[in-house]
Amino acid sequence: MGLFTPKRALKVDLHMHTTCSDGHLTPTELVRAVHKAGLDIVAITDHDTTAGIEEARQAVGNTSLRIIPGIEISSHIDDFEIHVLGLNVDHTSLDFQNRLEGLRKARRERIHVIVETLNKLGIKIDADEVFALAKGKSVGRPHVARALVKKGVVASTDQAFKRFLGRTAPAYVKTYDLVPAEAFAMIRQAGGIPVLAHPAFVGDDTVIPTLIGAGLMGIEVFHRYEDESVWENYLRMAERYQLLVTGGSDFHGYDRSTKSSDLGEVTLPYEYFQKLDQAMASARAVK
Ligand code: AMP
Ligand code: FE
Ligand code: FE
Ligand code: ZN
Repeated sequence: MGLFTPKRALKVDLHMHTTCSDGHLTPTELVRAVHKAGLDIVAITDHDTTAGIEEARQAVGNTSLRIIPGIEISSHIDDFEIHVLGLNVDHTSLDFQNRLEGLRKARRERIHVIVETLNKLGIKIDADEVFALAKGKSVGRPHVARALVKKGVVASTDQAFKRFLGRTAPAYVKTYDLVPAEAFAMIRQAGGIPVLAHPAFVGDDTVIPTLIGAGLMGIEVFHRYEDESVWENYLRMAERYQLLVTGGSDFHGYDRSTKSSDLGEVTLPYEYFQKLDQAMASARAVK
C-alpha cells in the first residue's frame, strides 16, 4: 500500500437487459448479479424502454456502482437489422419517452402479426400467451420463443429462432419501420451517444460509412465474437472513422441466447470508457 499504488482499472459493461424487455432478471436482481461479477460501471440497455433504470439505481444503494441510462433501438436498412445502443440518454425526457412508447406499441402490434403467421403454419398459439410472458413490458421475439417452448412446440428458444423467428425463418416479422438516422436522432435529442450494437451481426460492414454519415458516433467493438480478429477489425474501423469504442456482454440472464455473454465475460477496457465518458458529458452539455 504505497503512495503510488495505481488506481485499479474499473470494470465496464455497457450492454445488458432486464425483465423490462427480454432479459430474465429484474433490475434489482441484475444489480445484485453485477456486484457479484465485480463490475464497476454498467449501462442498462433494454429494448425500447428505460423502465428498469430507476429500480436499478435504487438497488445500487450507497455502493459505488455507476449505472448509465441506456437504450437499444432496432432499425433497418433494406433487409439488414441495425441495432442501435443509446448511451447516457436522458430518460426523463418526455419527448424521448413518447417516441419509445410509439416503438413499444409497434412491438405489440407485431406480436399479433407473428402469431397470425404461426397460426397459418399450423402452430396453435395465442397472442395473449406471449403478452402474459412479457408482463406488460417491452415485448419481443424472445417472448414468442418462450411461449413456444412452454407449449412444447420447440425444445428451446434457440430452436424457436431457427425454425420460426430468425431473420430467414418463415414467421420472421420486422420489429418496426425505422431507419438508423431516426434512431440516432432520437438518441442525440435525448442527450445520448448513438452506438452501432454488435456490428458483426449486421452482416455487411459496408453499411458502416453510411451510418456515420447518418449520425452514428460509436461502435460496439467488444461483444461476444467467436474470433478476436473480429474485434481487431472493428477497432481498426473505429480508428479510421474516429468512432468511440464501446463494449458489453449483452447479458440477458441465465437462459442464454446464442448471442449474449455472462456478466464479466466481455468488458470494455477502461481507457476506451474514459474517452466515451468525456463524449457523454459533452453530449449532455450541448443538449
Ligand atoms: P426483437 O427485438 O423482438 O426482434 O428480438 C431480438 C432479440 O431476440 C435479441 O435482442 C436477442 O435477445 C434475441 N435473439 C435474437 N436471435 C436469437 C437467437 N438465435 N436465439 C435466441 N435469442 C435470439
Ligand atoms: Fe434482446
Ligand atoms: Fe441487439
Ligand atoms: Zn442487446
